[in-house]
Amino acid sequence: MNIASNISQIQKRIAAVCKSCGRNPAEVRLVAVSKKKPAEDIEAAFAAGQSLFGESYVQECVAKINEVKAAVEWHFIGALQSNKVKYLRGKVAMIHSVDRFSLAEEIDRQWGKDDTCVDILIQVNLGEEASKSGTTASDLIGLVREVARLKHVRIRGLMALPPWEADLEEVRPYFRQLRELAEQIDALGLPNVSMQELSMGMSHDYEVAIEEGATLIRVGTAIFGAR
Ligand SMILES: *Cc1c(COP(=O)(O)O)cnc(C)c1O
Repeated sequence: MNIASNISQIQKRIAAVCKSCGRNPAEVRLVAVSKKKPAEDIEAAFAAGQSLFGESYVQECVAKINEVKAAVEWHFIGALQSNKVKYLRGKVAMIHSVDRFSLAEEIDRQWGKDDTCVDILIQVNLGEEASKSGTTASDLIGLVREVARLKHVRIRGLMALPPWEADLEEVRPYFRQLRELAEQIDALGLPNVSMQELSMGMSHDYEVAIEEGATLIRVGTAIFGAR
């Protein structure tokens, strides 16, 4: 597995998709999803110019943050239990997976201890799949309004993990729906809420996600190989 060449391949594909759909490639950031991969793989990716990493499991995330010496930006992207938020305090720059008020409140409480603020995304369960986290599209605006009142979290956008579809044209409507939801929220002009970030697209569908407006693509397998 050549991590450096995988990253450069993906960067080329990002540039090509952006060119074909008229987007600025600087608007699309690659989140290298390093879950279940060792710290050496992260160091190898960092040496190849990759500085943003996403982790899905709290214990593993914290262990790697302690182990990796490179100046990495960490995002937490996995399902998050409130009682584990304390371990992430001050260690991650963004949490992609906020899907309920009680979780946002706990993040607010933890970051409040240092009187700092953390960027968060609201995760939406577009396919309403029982196995996945995320608020429903119909509950989204209510949740955003509530979370926006918290002082130590800053809503930066939305995240989704749509159903896996072999046919990429079947996943496109989910990405489009996430962008439309972000536009609806943006139009409300709520204080403390920006809809700048759309976290969507993984190894097999990130190109479609970029065409539909993704600003953060979360790619694991295509960089680090199968888990
Ligand atoms: C594992 C994971 C990814 C990366 O998936 P790949 O198919 O390996 O690219 C993206 N997002 C989330 C939330 C994940 O848990």
